[in-house]
Amino acid sequence: MTKDRNTAAVATTLLHADRKAGMGHGAVHAPMHSSVLYGYESAETLERVFQGKTPGFTYARQGNPTGAALEAKINLLEDARASIGFATGMAAISATFLALLRSGDHVISSRYVFGNTASVLRTLQGFGVEVSLVDSTDAVHVAAALRPNTRLVFVETIANPRTQVADLAGIGALCRDRCVVFIVDNTLTTPDLFRPRTAGASLVINSLTKAIAGHADAMGGAVSDTGLFDWRLYPNIDPLYQTGDPANWGMVQIRRKGLRDLGGALRPEDAHRIAIGAETLKLRVTQTNANALALAQWLEAHPKVAHAYYPGLASHAQHQRARDLFGGRFGALISFELKPGHDTFKALDALQLVILATHLSDNRTLAIPVANTIFSEMGEAGRATMGISPGLVRLSVGIEDIEDLIADFDQALNAA
Ligand SMILES: *Cc1c(COP(=O)(O)O)cnc(C)c1O
Repeated sequence: MTKDRNTAAVATTLLHADRKAGMGHGAVHAPMHSSVLYGYESAETLERVFQGKTPGFTYARQGNPTGAALEAKINLLEDARASIGFATGMAAISATFLALLRSGDHVISSRYVFGNTASVLRTLQGFGVEVSLVDSTDAVHVAAALRPNTRLVFVETIANPRTQVADLAGIGALCRDRCVVFIVDNTLTTPDLFRPRTAGASLVINSLTKAIAGHADAMGGAVSDTGLFDWRLYPNIDPLYQTGDPANWGMVQIRRKGLRDLGGALRPEDAHRIAIGAETLKLRVTQTNANALALAQWLEAHPKVAHAYYPGLASHAQHQRARDLFGGRFGALISFELKPGHDTFKALDALQLVILATHLSDNRTLAIPVANTIFSEMGEAGRATMGISPGLVRLSVGIEDIEDLIADFDQALNAA
């Protein structure tokens, strides 16, 4: 495991970062720049900015000052050397794949990977990229899938919806030994619980839409470079981008090819809202995680519940790993199944406080039956490999008072 920067000071630094950077008027937030174009006094400066020789902005699809202020905060949260903001988490994932993969390359990901990411991987297969989906809870399965043309390994920290915890340290060590780019989607843990850099990640993905924004009023995504991968060893860096410090090559290619070509630019309004949300990340994560642990324990003990899945439960297959990696907290996502003979939909329809909706890590608690909603395209067999039974319910636990949440589930399960 790599040495980590002191995480304790991050909340303080983040809160005061804009003011200390000198925003003018004593303002505590970076201003929102809505300008699409950026003008220069001389043609020579314009040229230099275009060539990346002088810092600056050209056209908002390739970055803007409001997004850059947020990217600086993501660097701080992830202990990263550079981050790029995108319109959504999926834009960040798609742009990273698009920028780094070529026909004939091989990618290893998890059987349990987020459905939309699995969908992108299927699309890439149509363009000649080879994909292996393996059980990511043990690095031996990743090792067995490695090929000479393996370029990337992509895993998530905690899987949605069955909460499997990937063998992050084992896969990180393997990727380092084999010089393979290791990408970790940290959305479900957030950098407050876990920094993938400590497990050897080369790149980190965050859907900023989820816990980092936190209030369900903005969409965004980010890719961050931890600085651990030597981009001189990556065969797909275009000679155009093999200039300057090799430590920047990967991100230059992702910005120039992934962001520019795909066009999934982060809007300044969203960047501004996400930055405000991020100020309370630690507080919200502390509350959602404490609520989730209490609710998972309550559900597991309920006579109508067959199984509750949450990494914080001693019954969870990767409980000890989660405890070791995530500092004694376990995230905000729970899933559960009722025992045969109880009507799941009746229970869900009886919920009065909890919202029937799809989203994760909002301030409000959400519930969704997953098989015929977010995982319907996957089919019965596909769902079975992910451990998704027909009656599985996913919960995203919010920051409400825990007594109110338990009272709502109590009356809802009585109706089942
Ligand atoms: C939601 C999510 C994404 C995609 O993020 P969007 O901002 O919705 O595009 C990617 N990965 C994980 C693990 C997610 O939960």
